[in-house]
Amino acid sequence: MSQLRIAIVGAGPAGIYAADLLLKAERDVDVSIDLFERLPAPYGLVRYGVAPDHPRIKGIITALRDVLDRGDVRIFGNVNIGTDITVEELRDYYHAVIFATGAVRDAALPVPGLELEGSYGAADFVSWFDGHPDVPRDWPLEAEQIAVIGNGNVALDVARILVKHPEDLASTEIPANVAEGLASSPVTDVHVFGRRGPHQVKFTPLELRELGELRDVDMILDEADFPDAETTAALVAGNKQIMVIDRVLRSWRERETGQASRRLHLHFWAKPLEFVGDEAGRVRALRYERTAPLPDGTVVGTGEVRELPVQAAYRAVGYYGSPIDGVPFDEARGVIPNEGGRVSVDGVQIPGVYATGWIKRGPVGLIGHTKSDAMETVSNLLADGELWWTPEHPEESAITALLDERAVAYTDLDGWHRLDEHEIGLGAGERARVKVVPRDEMIRISRGEG
Ligand SMILES: Cc1cc2nc3c(=O)[nH]c(=O)nc-3n(C[C@H](O)[C@H](O)[C@H](O)COP(=O)(O)OP(=O)(O)OC[C@H]3O[C@@H](n4cnc5c(N)ncnc54)[C@H](O)[C@@H]3O)c2cc1C
Repeated sequence: MSQLRIAIVGAGPAGIYAADLLLKAERDVDVSIDLFERLPAPYGLVRYGVAPDHPRIKGIITALRDVLDRGDVRIFGNVNIGTDITVEELRDYYHAVIFATGAVRDAALPVPGLELEGSYGAADFVSWFDGHPDVPRDWPLEAEQIAVIGNGNVALDVARILVKHPEDLASTEIPANVAEGLASSPVTDVHVFGRRGPHQVKFTPLELRELGELRDVDMILDEADFPDAETTAALVAGNKQIMVIDRVLRSWRERETGQASRRLHLHFWAKPLEFVGDEAGRVRALRYERTAPLPDGTVVGTGEVRELPVQAAYRAVGYYGSPIDGVPFDEARGVIPNEGGRVSVDGVQIPGVYATGWIKRGPVGLIGHTKSDAMETVSNLLADGELWWTPEHPEESAITALLDERAVAYTDLDGWHRLDEHEIGLGAGERARVKVVPRDEMIRISRGEG
């Protein structure tokens, strides 16, 4: 073999790190990589998940861009693997494929009332405020009281964007339709609900602390949610993260409140039972049950049911991967089943097929974790020489010919640069960029079509 041809599907951090590591790995064959991305722009959830008011994290894009700018990975944006090119067809062009397709959907929350108007999934809202091309431009922001279900960082992102004064987002990359939408919101109170206690949250301290710094927003906590001093000391002992979280929450409990025009409430020991609707089919309340801790760290319902009037309820209980035609999928976990990145079903490896990132491990963990994921997947792929496919058309020109023949309007590295420069230009030096949202406009700008 003169050259090992690898397809990577998904240009989020996991796909880009996998490409980088493949090129840097010690190996005895030349590698040629094609990176396919179904969106006209790269970077996955760093562009379309990380909140716009987190410029430091968005800045990871610079490092990812440096990998692509080295020029030794070919990029095909606006190409959906599974439809534009089938997985079966990849076998004719590559020796192996790595799926790095991430997760974009909301995990299920099994409560009645999800179909009501005013009930939303966090993933959809995040896609809206981050200018994802495939979601509607308008978002209904008519509620004064809002519930957010979940005790992880995504719940905090959703709550923060909902409660933050829109002027304080003006310097970020949010698109114009998002700025307008948020400016029209009459919100006064956002309530975040967690089934477990304040010392069992999945928030990271930095994200939590940030809430207390929001201008003109009071942090409201209920003393009844906090254990006594002795129990608290036992809970924080030996866990630095929980110790910091405890300190942050304590500082808020001691703060004076009552002056701010908006409030962010944190409710612990609260298990959602139902999104309650009115006669018109709109959310009018959240019904929840108080819980209590069990010795094994789980919780049990106490039977005490409460109802809080809200006009909108967001579920932020995790993300979930999507299946791709022709690739095994674990419905229960929302991942491609694999062992160390080698895709396998019931312990039997599928030759030539690999997975990395959130679709490999499940939608938990920070961007940095996708690098260690990619390391394992890449080294297993390189060790599997005898299992690689034997493509009929390994030459690089064959895949471009296929896309041209199918009239797929793909974007490439130069195209991504054009879009990037255009968006930075729209920022006019005052904002890092202003995102272009409509897919056809992204493609037109990328392809230099007027
Ligand atoms: C709301 C939110 C906020 C977050 N904030 C932070 C944060 O502040 N800090 C942090 O470290 N981490 C954060 N994360 C986590 C971080 O985004 C993930 O760890 C990381 O993006 C996972 O990388 P990935 O490449 O596996 O998946 P993704 O980033 O989802 O990338 C997958 C890519 O594959 C593409 N794709 C999917 N299917 C196909 C197909 N069939 N054909 C072609 N392409 C396809 C997708 O379009 C996407 O671009 C956040 C996540 C979310 C959801």
